[in-house]
Amino acid sequence: MTFASLGLIEPLLRALETLGYQTPTPVQAQAIPAVLAGRDLMAAAQTGTGKTAGFALPLLQLLTLEGPKVAANSARALILCPTRELAEQVHASVAEYAQNLPLTTYAVYGGVSINPQMMKLRKGVDILVATPGRLIDLFRQNALKLNQLQTLVLDEADRMLDLGFSEELANIYRMLPKKRQTLLFSATFSDDIRLLAGQMLNDPLSIEVSPRNVAANTVKQWVVPVDKKRKPELFVHLMRKGRWKQVLVFAKTRNGVDALVDKLQGLGINADGIHGDKPQATRQRALDRFKSSEVQILVATDVAARGLDIEDLPLVINFDLPIVAEDYIHRIGRTGRAGNTGEAISLVCADEVNMLSAIEMLTRQTLTRKMEPDFEPEHRVPDTDASGQVVKKPKKPKKPKASGGGGKRNLGKWVDSGDVAPSEPSIKPVRKVPVFNTGPRKKK
Ligand code: AMP
Repeated sequence: MTFASLGLIEPLLRALETLGYQTPTPVQAQAIPAVLAGRDLMAAAQTGTGKTAGFALPLLQLLTLEGPKVAANSARALILCPTRELAEQVHASVAEYAQNLPLTTYAVYGGVSINPQMMKLRKGVDILVATPGRLIDLFRQNALKLNQLQTLVLDEADRMLDLGFSEELANIYRMLPKKRQTLLFSATFSDDIRLLAGQMLNDPLSIEVSPRNVAANTVKQWVVPVDKKRKPELFVHLMRKGRWKQVLVFAKTRNGVDALVDKLQGLGINADGIHGDKPQATRQRALDRFKSSEVQILVATDVAARGLDIEDLPLVINFDLPIVAEDYIHRIGRTGRAGNTGEAISLVCADEVNMLSAIEMLTRQTLTRKMEPDFEPEHRVPDTDASGQVVKKPKKPKKPKASGGGGKRNLGKWVDSGDVAPSEPSIKPVRKVPVFNTGPRKKK
């Protein structure tokens, strides 16, 4: 399939050629024709699937081919994003796709002065990327009118609700023209998101694409909970117990790589490390020795491992979980290739629970936990599941104060030290879902 066969116009095809996009991703193949046909969309797709081009390309095409010129202080399309970072990123992509088109684009978000944004909006913009709070401010100060709006995109809708923007979304909903096209993208489809979609969308087409590379069916994955300081010891224990022969190990930082390699070498284990501080030639040599089995254990950071040409490995160890959940998929993608079975084991401490939760949400599975006898952590790793929630075990109630007797007595705190880790992460805020009471809206 080509982008041309999806019906995109020549200036967009040229931009894609410049960017080196050759084939549409699955979400693009499904979204582009539907959006061009004017349909509302409810798409389960996350970052990395190519979703931005999936909505931006047809949107740019519709704005180029139809509709009036944008009026002062107006926008013809609005892309709502949960964070300033995402707003900037989406805007940068949209601007790249629009490089050969006579359209204007702009991004607004909070945390910076509103005045330059108000000035910029005076002439109007075809596509406005915005975070919810700043959009409302601009609207209330009459810097932005939405009566010309043709299309609304809700990007990462689940994160907007997670971040507590439900009230803002309800307010924005009331500001929108009834006749419009709405596209909703979300990594997960909880009941809250379905409710939001039911209120905002009109007969939407549902699209679902699985995250890239979660071909991990052939990879047995599990987690061993452990205290942070005992990870090296556990690693050596598991290595000896499992008689590991060739293992690629991922650590989070350069220092982490060096420390583990030193420890292993100190025990007489044949290990080497690669990270961004080492010259390319040294990295290549370590890799060659690993491939030819001269080195048994190769410890790497994500950056150093990217692009490593390693055909297939029986075992990948996550000594630390990656900060970016997507890197987990890249890491475990190095095993279980071409129908072979592989194993991916993650050593996880209480500090890493949010990363574990993000990985489970991305891969849509709850990773099995296997306790290793004698390594049970003192700091419990809170429960997680594929919904992205970290389940905090309720604290035991404080023992009631003794009544009567001789005044105040310090009874001490009644807390089970195994339950509450010192750095236990906070729980995500409870989501509030907006209640929209506007009647049904007409289709464009
Ligand atoms: P997104 O999921 O929209 O954040 O996109 C993820 C990355 O994939 C971005 O760096 C895009 O530039 C890139 N990308 C999107 N679509 C394609 C495509 N069809 N071919 C190659 N790269 C793409």
